[in-house]
Amino acid sequence: MEAEVVVLGAGPGGYTAAFRAADLGLRTVLVERYPTLGGVCLNVGCIPSKALLHAAAVIDGAAEMAAHGVEFGPPSIDPARLAGWKDTVVARLTRGLAGLARQRKVEVVHGAGTFASPHRLSVATPGGTTEIGFERAIVAAGSRAAEIPGFPHDDPRLMDSTGALVLDAIPPRLLVIGGGIIGLEMATVYAALGSKVSVVELMDGLIPGCDRDLVKPLEQRIRSRYESIRLSTKVTGVVPEESGLRVSFEGPDPPVEDTFDRVLVAVGRRPNGDRIGAENAGLRVDEHGFIPADRQQRTNVDHIFAIGDVAGPPMLAHKATHEGKVAAEMCAGRKAGFDALAIPSVAYTDPEVAWTGLTETAAREQGVELDKATFPWAASGRALGIGRSEGLTKVLFDRESGRLLGAGIVGPHAGELIAEATLAIEMGADARDVGLTIHPHPTLSETINFAAEMAEGTITDLYLPRRAK
Ligand code: NAD
Repeated sequence: MEAEVVVLGAGPGGYTAAFRAADLGLRTVLVERYPTLGGVCLNVGCIPSKALLHAAAVIDGAAEMAAHGVEFGPPSIDPARLAGWKDTVVARLTRGLAGLARQRKVEVVHGAGTFASPHRLSVATPGGTTEIGFERAIVAAGSRAAEIPGFPHDDPRLMDSTGALVLDAIPPRLLVIGGGIIGLEMATVYAALGSKVSVVELMDGLIPGCDRDLVKPLEQRIRSRYESIRLSTKVTGVVPEESGLRVSFEGPDPPVEDTFDRVLVAVGRRPNGDRIGAENAGLRVDEHGFIPADRQQRTNVDHIFAIGDVAGPPMLAHKATHEGKVAAEMCAGRKAGFDALAIPSVAYTDPEVAWTGLTETAAREQGVELDKATFPWAASGRALGIGRSEGLTKVLFDRESGRLLGAGIVGPHAGELIAEATLAIEMGADARDVGLTIHPHPTLSETINFAAEMAEGTITDLYLPRRAK
């Protein structure tokens, strides 16, 4: 086979790159080791987890209405049917992607691809090895769950995120190792389905990398619902026993040992740069397994590009898709570059936590002078109407230019709301631009408007005597 562009990996970055390259008239081959397109995100990540999180929101929402006069009986949960529904959501999307590839005449080769030389890729397909000669390549090989050395490998009760999404059982007691985004999202699911959840995190706070004021409302809520949340704690061993997995801990809180029905390991992801025969193409892979790329997504080899998780952090699908378009356009000889001012991050927990652009923590470290405003959702009629007054919307404006540099939101739907702040950052909006934009009432989106008004000193939904201008 000969291709003008070969794309290695069909996750959100890879399929976007392949489709864009084909739309720009390039003969494109897309190589994927799994039988369906969509990668981790679509098959065993973002999409199935969101279907399960929807079920969790319905269960928790129904239970919470009991305090307000609407009482339902306890839910009757059929894990097999719930998992079946989640699988149909995924199947519909992966079928859709296969159709989009056909429509564009993108040739899809299923099998594990490794570079044989700077212009050849060798793909181990079920029917034998296929060699693909290419003019340009886009590496979109993604990442895999990081493992903790020494933990048992062959016990299905010790799961990674893929295993946790299978949902073949609802364990009475679940331990989540890693209080990052994956760990806390899966904890949200299993807690709603009835598991007693414990979370253990190595660092001194949940979701490291996010401002502490945004994590606090989430932590407060889950501390009251989960069996335990242990910070600054290391898991030193997991021993399979008939009654469960015996786990030992090293940290400030007791106990030092406990037994769980299942354990989920969610301690980060490792890039797959070390698994694609990069050396045969002369590609540089760094010590972590990333394939470094410049703003044009070009690697150290001129005609090979890298995008998505394998190209560097943050490991987020929406970063990968944008990089994929840049790489495809470069392959087509266009001028392109990845120059996003802000990449939003979202933990789809309950409440959701979302942030974009500069965090307050990073701004302080960098000595950036800020005008900050934090609007409490307790003053939002819409937040009260959904029974969720714990939310916060924070905006950070550059003191000198007045422009929005960053924003953070915690509360239900924060992941949807953060998009507006990201657009405002990209458009160079200042507090007046955001404050004078008419937001629909009553919505949670108004909290962004109100936060900007607080920064401006024009807010009337709160009383801030010293800020009035
Ligand atoms: P993460 O880096 O977000 O969190 C891992 C957590 O585990 C960290 O808090 C870390 O301090 C902790 N940890 C590491 N080693 C530990 C140990 N031995 N014991 C206890 N805790 C330990 O990683 P993740 O949650 O696994 O997610 C992986 C990647 O996937 C991230 O880059 C994330 O951005 C991405 N992701 C994004 C989304 C989303 O956008 N909603 C969802 C899932 C995953």
